[in-house]
Amino acid sequence: MAVLQHLHDSERPCSHADVVDALGEDGWDRATLFRNLNDLATAGLLRRIDVDHTWRFELIRTEGGHPHFVCVSCGDIQCLGDVRLQADGSAADLIARAREVQIRGVCEACE
Ligand SMILES: [Zn+2]
Ligand SMILES: [Zn+2]
Repeated sequence: MAVLQHLHDSERPCSHADVVDALGEDGWDRATLFRNLNDLATAGLLRRIDVDHTWRFELIRTEGGHPHFVCVSCGDIQCLGDVRLQADGSAADLIARAREVQIRGVCEACE
């Protein structure tokens, strides 16, 4: 419940390290939190996003995913809830099959 609450309150996907930083002081150990995140993802409550080989987790609030903006400088990730991808023909078929869309750039803080 503590993990779900933390992800519910977070505006962006969290890594295991983020969750350990947030909840570690309450006595949760790293391994338990790691198992928890993966179990919740397997159960379909969390979405797992691979950012440069580090998993980020977010609460699934709506059907279907949304793109994310990833800063190539600091690794920050932000949800792009309002972005829709449109394409015609074979590109549309491919986009319909996409599991994850990441837009990579440099965030405002790193500019
Ligand atoms: Zn940045
Ligand atoms: Zn998101």
